[in-house]
Amino acid sequence: MIDPFNRTIDYMRISITDRCNLRCVYCMPQGIRSLPETEILSYEEILRVCTEAAALGIRYIKITGGEPLLREGVPDLVRRLKNTPGITSVSLTTNGVLLNRYLDALYAAGIDGINISLDSLDGERFRLTTGYNGLNTIIRGIHESLSRAIPVKINAVLIDNGGATEWQDLADLARVLPLDVRFIEMMPIGYGKAFKGVAHDRILQELQETYAGITEDRASLGAGPAVYYRIPGFKGKIGFISALSHQFCHTCNRIRLTAEGMLKPCLCYASGIDLKAILRDPDTPKEAIGQALRDVVAMKPASHCFTGTVPEGSLEKRAMVAIGG
Ligand code: SAM
Ligand code: SF4
Repeated sequence: MIDPFNRTIDYMRISITDRCNLRCVYCMPQGIRSLPETEILSYEEILRVCTEAAALGIRYIKITGGEPLLREGVPDLVRRLKNTPGITSVSLTTNGVLLNRYLDALYAAGIDGINISLDSLDGERFRLTTGYNGLNTIIRGIHESLSRAIPVKINAVLIDNGGATEWQDLADLARVLPLDVRFIEMMPIGYGKAFKGVAHDRILQELQETYAGITEDRASLGAGPAVYYRIPGFKGKIGFISALSHQFCHTCNRIRLTAEGMLKPCLCYASGIDLKAILRDPDTPKEAIGQALRDVVAMKPASHCFTGTVPEGSLEKRAMVAIGG
């Protein structure tokens, strides 16, 4: 599918739950109510959408949440998505808490990649950010994934605490392990509005001062929102996903499906199409799902609205955990 700004849309992020077993301060602090299960799309409904989406050119699926591994049956969903004609890649974004339990099954299902969110390698800082005292479990999941040759990306959202330096230890992971470490800029969405992120330019400048020969990896440009750098002697790359300071919307290739079945053209705006209503209406003609997918692609804005001035009513009000980050 081609959107009004001539971008090819071939990637769909699907949130399969709005629940989470962590309480990241910028995403899902204590006290957030989850949707009743009946309001969440079933796997059958998700697969119906994906079959239509694949027929229209969606090739890449990312399963996200909330914490996707909290929902039973993810490996089977991966297997069925992988068997959907047209889908070439199915990957997962997880906080890693339950990864060790499901890794063999995910591997057997043919998972193409796992993104693991990890904001600090300091156990106490990690606990303060996530509410979880189990950093070692996440580290084990990283090693176990790599030992199965599953491509791993570490996603880190850093909070500026005045002298935040965890990025140094996180970046070092890409030196010792064959994985990519990506720094994601804090977005002013949901609870993220209350936090100041760490400026990516500062991290890059310090990396450049520390490592001679660091070069931008132009080969990976445009393949996603990250700008990657290679450092001699590193097994993996360092990436920056800087939605605010270096807007990448001109390369956007994605649409989103929330756990409650809203099809969204952009993370930033409240707009979307209620696909659940379409899926659950027995009178809906068969073509309606495909039409909704085409309509949401036609709705895609030129760029996000985090830094501009758009009417308050058109901004997304939900927390990231409800949308699917
Ligand atoms: N629970 C899974 C995880 O943590 O990977 C999947 C869902 S989580 C919402 C997906 C990603 O969104 C995580 O990497 C998280 O750090 C990121 N995220 C959450 N709130 C954010 C915000 N305000 N700005 C930028 N990234 C955010
Ligand atoms: Fe849960 Fe992921 Fe949000 Fe953290 S970032 S609260 S792990 S959904």
